[in-house]
Amino acid sequence: MDASEEKVEGRARIVVVGGGFGGLFTALGLAGAGQVTLVSNEDHFLHTPLLYEYLSGEVEAWHIAPPYRELLDERVQFVQGAVANVDLDKKEVAVAGRVRRINYEYLVLAVGGVTNFWGVRGAEQNTLPFRKIRHADDLRRRMCDALDHIPPDAAPQDARRSATFVIVGGGASGVELSTKMSDLLRDAFRRRGLRGEPRVVVVEMGKQLVPGMGDELRAAIEKVLDEKRIEVHTDTRVVEVLPRGVTFEHAGERQTIESAGVVWTAGVRINPLVDRLDVEKTQKGLVVVAPTLQVRGRPEVFVLGDIAYFPNVAPTLAGTAQLAYQQSRLVARNVQALIDGSVPSAGHFEEMGEAVSLGTDDAAVLIEGRVVSGQLARQARFALYTLRLPTWHQRLRVGAAWFFGGKSPRPLGL
Ligand SMILES: Cc1cc2nc3c(=O)[nH]c(=O)nc-3n(C[C@H](O)[C@H](O)[C@H](O)COP(=O)(O)OP(=O)(O)OC[C@H]3O[C@@H](n4cnc5c(N)ncnc54)[C@H](O)[C@@H]3O)c2cc1C
Repeated sequence: MDASEEKVEGRARIVVVGGGFGGLFTALGLAGAGQVTLVSNEDHFLHTPLLYEYLSGEVEAWHIAPPYRELLDERVQFVQGAVANVDLDKKEVAVAGRVRRINYEYLVLAVGGVTNFWGVRGAEQNTLPFRKIRHADDLRRRMCDALDHIPPDAAPQDARRSATFVIVGGGASGVELSTKMSDLLRDAFRRRGLRGEPRVVVVEMGKQLVPGMGDELRAAIEKVLDEKRIEVHTDTRVVEVLPRGVTFEHAGERQTIESAGVVWTAGVRINPLVDRLDVEKTQKGLVVVAPTLQVRGRPEVFVLGDIAYFPNVAPTLAGTAQLAYQQSRLVARNVQALIDGSVPSAGHFEEMGEAVSLGTDDAAVLIEGRVVSGQLARQARFALYTLRLPTWHQRLRVGAAWFFGGKSPRPLGL
């Protein structure tokens, strides 16, 4: 039996499941409020908005994916493991591979989403997802391999074919990724003296890129994509992903292009753990929560982040780190209120501004309704995200490293 399984008399037993923006920040906010256990299937947090910079080598893993043991002190017990089931009646959590269940008086669920392949043939087997550190490592490796297979004297059209990458999904994630990939590949072509240019293609099912973002920001993004010669196909549906290519359909016409890698950023679906929970859900499977983020009929259970349906927020806030982060503060306050015997309060969540990375030398930031772009926006984005790292210690370490060490990209192959 380890410390997470022993009940300490007189201390409220709080279990937080999921160590992302919602769960980690709740656990940090509740440290010392009771006997807090954080259960997560990874051993580290991930600051997802900077995963593109990790791909390009502008940040290191320790900047954006610190291990929980560095972030948590003795007031929060960490258990690494995937929660396989939650028994809401018995108030216990089953972790895969562990015989003993962890019981709770208060439960916080923040397990986030998983990649949604929408049942597209070959997508799960043949695409690279982009949600985790290991996904970025795999993609970087794939780009290096593709470049290494291009003979130095290759004809421009052959080099281009071998360095073709397709990104499925033209939301913020697909757009940010395409600009980083394009910059990295172009830089590699220059360094290796290859003729021609790489080809980066974005395929989006909707009528326009970054749906949900304002027109001014979209215009700034489209301009950059155009300058970087990124090929955009809107109103286009991917019908099949092959081991070395992708078939898509536009206006009834099908086209297959050969590709060294297809990256899938086209959607998120609810975590399977939530599918198994017997609580009220929306048609999309999101857990319906009260304005206090409690589950109806289960006042001791709080749900937040990507798996929660909270009706009173701007649609653009749903499914964002910004929302999960703000909700974590409310959950921590409300769990504390229950422990103290007082009444939980309702939340109100604000848009905290939008920031999009646009390659290794550019970004666009929406500040008070105005779009700022270029190097200044890139610096502002770094500064903003440093402030949103989990602990002051982490913010200072990373802030100092970025400030003194610079933030130059690491060329592919180095
Ligand atoms: C590449 C990328 C870039 C993004 N950029 C932005 C951005 O710029 N701005 C923005 O606002 N949002 C951004 N997002 C969205 C943002 O990351 C999510 O909205 C946010 O992380 C949601 O927080 P969460 O706590 O609900 O889930 P997550 O942060 O996903 O955390 C879920 C945690 O639960 C763990 N987990 C999952 N299943 C289990 C299980 N069964 N048992 C135990 N643990 C489990 C996971 O490992 C993870 O640690 C981005 C997302 C991605 C993938």
